[in-house]
Amino acid sequence: MDKKFNVLIIGGGLAGMFIALNLPKEIKIAMVMKDTKDIANSELAQGGIAAELTKNDEALKKHIEDTLTAGSNINDLDATKTLVYEASENIEKLMEFGVEFDKDKEGHLLLAQEGGHRGRRILRAGGDATGREIMRALKKRIVEKENVTIFEETMATDLIIKDNKCIGATLIDKDNNMFDCIASRTVIATGGLGAVYKNSTNPKIATGDGIAMAYRANVECENLEFIQFHPTGFYTEEDGQKFLISEAVRGEGAQLKNVDGERFMGKYDKRMELAPRDIVSQSIYREMYDTWSDHVYLDITFESKEFLMERFPTIYNKILQYGIHMESDFIPVAPVEHFSCGGIKIDLNGKTNLENLYANGECACSGVHGANRLASNSLLECVVFGNRIAEDIKKSDLTIPNVEPKTHSVTHKMFSFHPIRSEIRDVMDKYVGIVRSEEGLEIAKKIIGRHFKNLSKTLVHSHYYYETLNMATTAMMIIEAAIKRKESVGCHYRVN
Ligand SMILES: Cc1cc2nc3c(=O)[nH]c(=O)nc-3n(C[C@H](O)[C@H](O)[C@H](O)COP(=O)(O)OP(=O)(O)OC[C@H]3O[C@@H](n4cnc5c(N)ncnc54)[C@H](O)[C@@H]3O)c2cc1C
Repeated sequence: MDKKFNVLIIGGGLAGMFIALNLPKEIKIAMVMKDTKDIANSELAQGGIAAELTKNDEALKKHIEDTLTAGSNINDLDATKTLVYEASENIEKLMEFGVEFDKDKEGHLLLAQEGGHRGRRILRAGGDATGREIMRALKKRIVEKENVTIFEETMATDLIIKDNKCIGATLIDKDNNMFDCIASRTVIATGGLGAVYKNSTNPKIATGDGIAMAYRANVECENLEFIQFHPTGFYTEEDGQKFLISEAVRGEGAQLKNVDGERFMGKYDKRMELAPRDIVSQSIYREMYDTWSDHVYLDITFESKEFLMERFPTIYNKILQYGIHMESDFIPVAPVEHFSCGGIKIDLNGKTNLENLYANGECACSGVHGANRLASNSLLECVVFGNRIAEDIKKSDLTIPNVEPKTHSVTHKMFSFHPIRSEIRDVMDKYVGIVRSEEGLEIAKKIIGRHFKNLSKTLVHSHYYYETLNMATTAMMIIEAAIKRKESVGCHYRVN
């Protein structure tokens, strides 16, 4: 098996795939993913991808302003401008790669609206299956590329550093072979960290691996206190991965009502249900507290069954399995962990502070989201910065380092560290959720800090071990960032 490449991309979601597809065939690429190609946050994106496709300055300015307003103005302005100005060229690329966005009968792109956007600027596909359609097209392309070797069910455990440069990563494959993969350039595109929480919209593989790997290699990370809770996770009593009721449902006029059937957003924000996510989540939290309840409702019963089935086929069919008919029943919802606004710090070309290491997508922090992400800006971030990374790599000397890849032996492969994982998730939900306090954060730090210390002391070479260590590391980074930021801003809300 080949273990030396020009470029190693860790992650096969939109952030990783878009880079690989934008690199020429002369560049030998390894793309590694922890599960199969079908398991990633990118696949689950429902609402769409935000993009102003006009060249109209006023419209572009509005998208920038909406992004800054949602992010409480602590966004990086240059990165935000880059995101908005380079949207249309990257949407065109997606379409060239075969992505079919929804169009009307005359062939014009259909545009949706979501919270925090002043206007319809969100492209969607398959009604509410945007991520699935984007990834369908990209996966079809990637397997045709002879220069890309795909390693599915293979987990990157740590970066390899030599002379202060990143020269690849150590991997464990599904047969428990552990080996080094050497590359001239490495990209971390490992996605979210939702599985550090008990309830999240992310799949269970989202254990913050890239961020934890970066931490161990002294790569700078930032803004990790800004964990976005989506206001409308579909409420069920079981813990774990939660199904999402897209913001686009509110974009079509759905109203939030408390358990007494009263519409309540007017008490909290004049933008009502279309206020940015941090505000809506915090308002729901307050309303649940005041009504002694663990959920509220979303009401779109004023729409017809035909409209709902066509506009939201994924959501309609999913919640029907729970006996809920969108045209006649209120949908039970509650806020749930959804997105990490912070991550590995990158510049405008996706470079980290470690030479030859890039990061892209949800694990990265380009600064575009500030303290709270504007809906549908994250898929856009994956492609805009992914394209920039590809351009930067194309200009680089991609000579493969003259280092022989080592092999390592895997140990304790059956031990799942289940009690530790479970405690981390409980503690994060309880003390590092939507509302945070000094006391709660200190309790969380103590419990998770102990796990982090113990796990770091006894290095074990196994998939489960690294995943658990990464959970403890990422959780600890979130807690420490949350303790440091004393004021409430965006999705970091402190009562003291
Ligand atoms: C339910 C849901 C709905 C969403 N809706 C929208 C939306 O409408 N619009 C929008 O803009 N955003 C949306 N988002 C957010 C958006 O989907 C993600 O932020 C984005 O897709 C992240 O892409 P990514 O490539 O960075 O990560 P992912 O798509 O999660 O891909 C991560 C990849 O990294 C791999 N990986 C992880 N760890 C390792 C490791 N240690 N070794 C090897 N590989 C690893 C995984 O296997 C996977 O291939 C939604 C998210 C969710 C969960």
